Amino acid sequence: MTTLWNITVRIRRQRQDEDRPRWQDFSLEVDPDETVLDAVEKIWAFKDRTLTFRHACHHSTCGACGMRVNGVEKLTCITPVRSVTHNNGILKIEPLRNFPVVSDLVVDVAHFFEELEEMHTPQVVTNRQGRLDYEKTGDEEEDYVRLVDCIECGLCVSACPVALTDAAYVGPASLAGLQQSLAAQVNSVDASLADNQNGAWRCHSAYECSEVCPSHVEPGYRIMDLRKKIMQKSFRQWFGGREKTQ
Ligand code: SF4
Repeated sequence: MTTLWNITVRIRRQRQDEDRPRWQDFSLEVDPDETVLDAVEKIWAFKDRTLTFRHACHHSTCGACGMRVNGVEKLTCITPVRSVTHNNGILKIEPLRNFPVVSDLVVDVAHFFEELEEMHTPQVVTNRQGRLDYEKTGDEEEDYVRLVDCIECGLCVSACPVALTDAAYVGPASLAGLQQSLAAQVNSVDASLADNQNGAWRCHSAYECSEVCPSHVEPGYRIMDLRKKIMQKSFRQWFGGREKTQ
């Protein structure tokens, strides 16, 4: 039989009409194999019905339950309590960074989705059998998905040190999406979309995004590949132009 743990769950809370966030502690008995999302739901169910948080699928598909847990971005539906604290320990839970807070643990993701669309990430190709790769599928009927493997959880944006100081930065998920669209040779997508000071060149190569991504999208490495693609395009234009003028 599993021994239950007694933990303190410290939640950062803030309503839109409050100037600053406050911390609220809850004592909780948990099975250490339960997830952090289970713990948050228990607090809502048994201790405070005013707590607001976002969740949906409970199996790492929807990307809705991203939070910062003890200072690290986690998809809370797949994060066991035992992996982030210990018996009599503290579980410090905050909303994702680099997003406006709507209420408590809920952040506004509207701008994040707008940026994904601006980078043309909806156009990565897969077929109706769900085969996800970078190849066009010829005469097969094609579907369109937003970004291979990405569940649009926003963890990468929260972890990104550049997004923390520069709101204009396009961000790792959108740039990774553009890289995938380019790799898939989607016609309407152009590397120059990210060839600017708020795009691929703004990344500091910290790779925090890749570290926290729960879907192994590896945004950091994709941004580096995107830079390579931008340079290749520039070289082609440069040398192609020179050949024509000679
Ligand atoms: S790239 Fe990874 S961390 Fe970023 S939104 Fe997509 S799944 Fe989440």
